[in-house]
Amino acid sequence: MAKMTTPLVEVVGDRTAKLFSSSLQIETVADLLRHYPRRLAERGELTDLASLRLDEDVTVLAEVRSIQNFSNFSRKSSGNRRLERAEVIVGDGRGTLALTFFNAGWKVRDLTVGTRALFAGKVGEFRNKRQLVNPEFQLLVGGGFDDFQADDFANTVLPIYPATAKLRSWTIAKTVDTVLAALDRVPDPLSDELLLGHRLLSLDAALRQMHRPKDWAEWAAAKKRLKWDEALGVQLALAQRRMISRANPATPRPPRADGLLTTFDQRLPFELTAGQREVGRLLTEELASTQGMQRLLQGEVGSGKTIVALRAMLQVVDAGGQAALLAPTEVLATQHARSIELMLGELAQAGRLGGSENATRVALLTGSLPTKARRAALLDVAGGAAGIVVGTHALIQEHVSFAELGFVVVDEQHRFGVEQRDALRGKAERPPHLLVMTATPIPRTVAMTVFGDLETSVLSELPKGRSPISTSVVGVREHPAWLARVWQRIIEEVGSGHQAFIVCPRIGDGQPESDSDPDDAPPEEAQASTRRSPLAATEVITMLADGALAGLRLGLLHGRLAPDEKDRVMSAFSAGDLDVLVSTTVVEVGVDVPNATVMVVLDAERFGVSQLHQLRGRIGRGSAAGVCLLVTETPEGSPSRERLDAVAATSDGFELAQLDLEQRREGDVLGASQSGRRSQLKLLSLLRDAEIIAEARDVANDLVVGDHLLRKHPELAAWLASLVDQSQVDFLEKA
Ligand code: ADP
Ligand code: MG
Repeated sequence: MAKMTTPLVEVVGDRTAKLFSSSLQIETVADLLRHYPRRLAERGELTDLASLRLDEDVTVLAEVRSIQNFSNFSRKSSGNRRLERAEVIVGDGRGTLALTFFNAGWKVRDLTVGTRALFAGKVGEFRNKRQLVNPEFQLLVGGGFDDFQADDFANTVLPIYPATAKLRSWTIAKTVDTVLAALDRVPDPLSDELLLGHRLLSLDAALRQMHRPKDWAEWAAAKKRLKWDEALGVQLALAQRRMISRANPATPRPPRADGLLTTFDQRLPFELTAGQREVGRLLTEELASTQGMQRLLQGEVGSGKTIVALRAMLQVVDAGGQAALLAPTEVLATQHARSIELMLGELAQAGRLGGSENATRVALLTGSLPTKARRAALLDVAGGAAGIVVGTHALIQEHVSFAELGFVVVDEQHRFGVEQRDALRGKAERPPHLLVMTATPIPRTVAMTVFGDLETSVLSELPKGRSPISTSVVGVREHPAWLARVWQRIIEEVGSGHQAFIVCPRIGDGQPESDSDPDDAPPEEAQASTRRSPLAATEVITMLADGALAGLRLGLLHGRLAPDEKDRVMSAFSAGDLDVLVSTTVVEVGVDVPNATVMVVLDAERFGVSQLHQLRGRIGRGSAAGVCLLVTETPEGSPSRERLDAVAATSDGFELAQLDLEQRREGDVLGASQSGRRSQLKLLSLLRDAEIIAEARDVANDLVVGDHLLRKHPELAAWLASLVDQSQVDFLEKA
């Protein structure tokens, strides 16, 4: 008999186990049973062929409408060869799909008009029509279906699994059958009381019904239970975190009357907004308490979060601690370090000529720092000379040690996973205060999950003197001439002393990768929207320099430039020595050049909603009005075009965040894909399962009260440990 932990090879044999391991990274019984059917196909109901996407590996249930056989002679050097081709048209009642079989011989003889079968293959295109070439198939009546699931499948529904070319849905189904037959009753980590109270199936029943439902109702019940597990897992981990941080007092960092902060405030060239002052007071209080800060600061792009964070950092430095600012990209980290040094002036010049008496230092730590600079920075951090440390994820690395880390600020949190946040906090003796900043408004369910351990503040008002940004979609498919007007607009703005950004989806140089974050990618349908490859910054700049923008001073910025080159370009643009910056999404977050008034995004459909919102936040930062032009070849009315229209229609970040969430896979929102692990959330939808998440949150809170290690619920503790990545557990235990 088999348990969840049993290696698959012990149940199904070597060959099959190897196939599962190599195609789907499935090693154990549990891995297999957590590979849930993507959908159910109903006996009577055929797959909606209109929904098929190009290049997708699909399994469709369809009926044969016609068969035609062709044969040709092909002349080859090796002599004449007969080429047999069978064209089979299958239908779903509305649409049809062509199946093309080459030299399939006896294999297709079972396909007669009226036959229903599962067909699996990769969706291709021939003369503008979708087709599958040499698909594999299983008949649903007679023949092949007998050894599929005919006997025990008196059920009306068939599970369709996410499959690969090597491992078809029906092979997965068969293997699952073998495993389920050998499986011992799966023990349940949830108590009977909990199951009854929330009308949940046992885990054993849920797993079996998930794979072999008799009907849709059984499948729904199974899904509900399995979603519950996912929600409870996350909520328990978060509830533990909250308990632990409450149990481990932070070092209080009270404000000092004659410190850096006071001097800094006196010299601030503008007035803080009411919101900045209010949040500032709250942070001052929290930093001074032993309770410890655990706060999320949301604020629209340009609302001035950095100043708020910097003031809090100065308070910590005044109290003898160090503050770390974690930024998602090297460009942003560098810019933060520079602008903080600028704002601090002599307050950041400790030990240097002209430094003021109680000054500190700002250290920058990024992955590609030259060795010498890196060593100096590491020393400043370890010795405590640097009160403020700015960096990318390089800060998280093992060998970076702090003298007295008291405060961690994470900028633009949506790009960091929960684990990374923890890793940095793990670098202090006592848990440091934590401030997480994001310009991407966070829907309630996400706030309850990813940020479930944080309190929330919002900066709702923009500093005075901000100019509105108008956004337009430029449809160059319908109006090719409009592209020329885009360049003209740039020339005009530059003519009146302003600057422009042009953002492209790709770097170029023949390499396919871009700088963009895979978690922020638009839906697949957008990525296949144009058949040519997306525009590349390196190519666009050459084209413009010799063409439409000849005579302007153009600069190129992307992630593969050497760090000092990036630096040079960015400084030149900030200083106004460049008119136009052609770049990839490296400018997406935080880059602050108030004189820039135009943002042109090329192949705009290739970007996610949040990305576009962030990108346009780079303009309208000064007193002149900004214009954002989203250039696209997608046809009017297509889903990608509608996404762009939505971005153009509103500047309300909350509305856009909701739209974004609807279009992204849930796992991505949690950031787990960034850490390279498979997402724990396979079924739970942050959008649709708000109720389950809220219930699980209450249950989790009750369970951990007075028992944060779940000693009273050992099965639950063991189950949780099996879910959560080991590094996370280590953190929880250390804390
Ligand atoms: P974000 O919230 O997007 O990170 P920043 O902190 O980068 O915004 O602030 C954007 C710009 O606004 C910066 O140049 C900053 O110096 C400026 N700024 C911040 N607060 C104020 C204020 N109260 N009045 C005027 N300008 C401000
Ligand atoms: Mg910012």
